[in-house]
Amino acid sequence: MTRFIVINEQSIPVHITHAHRKSIQLRVKDSILWVRAPQKMSDRWIMDFIETKKSWISKQLIKTEKVYISAKEGWLILFNQKVMIGNDSVQTVLTRAYPTFMEMIESQCLTYADRLNVTITSIQIKSMKRSWGRAHASGKLVFATRLIHTDPRFIEAVCVHEVVHLVFMNHSSDFKKTCIRLCPQYLEWIKLET
Ligand SMILES: [Zn+2]
Repeated sequence: MTRFIVINEQSIPVHITHAHRKSIQLRVKDSILWVRAPQKMSDRWIMDFIETKKSWISKQLIKTEKVYISAKEGWLILFNQKVMIGNDSVQTVLTRAYPTFMEMIESQCLTYADRLNVTITSIQIKSMKRSWGRAHASGKLVFATRLIHTDPRFIEAVCVHEVVHLVFMNHSSDFKKTCIRLCPQYLEWIKLET
């Protein structure tokens, strides 16, 4: 069962492993809170403990990765631009930007798929913490919701990446060459987010 902790309106997955140790250890990496706890410590106790460490976790998140939403300070990042939330809610601002986001992904994927002569069967946007996109052999492409916060050039590079996976299901040199052939700035753009 995956547990979550909510920090700055972001749900952070909590990954708990039990080990032969005396104290609890917390680590933030890849937007996930990794917990190593003593064998007998219950999840309930661990989650209560984590609650008391929220400000430390929040600081680690800022230090180790980009924060896209700060409801407290009233802004969020949309397409790599800071947008003030004003009287709206975070959800309203995101919902308003969503059609543009969807259109961006769909048109780029279809354009690149056309050039590669591959067929996309469906495009989905899903909350994914560990990856920006995923391609299935069936032709289904899935993109992470959080891409909406990133630079449109990065979004385009991710589209290229996933479409090329419909030909090469690996990261071989042929895969890379094809990405660059389709989009000469691919290597530069894919590095805009880490
Ligand atoms: Zn890949």
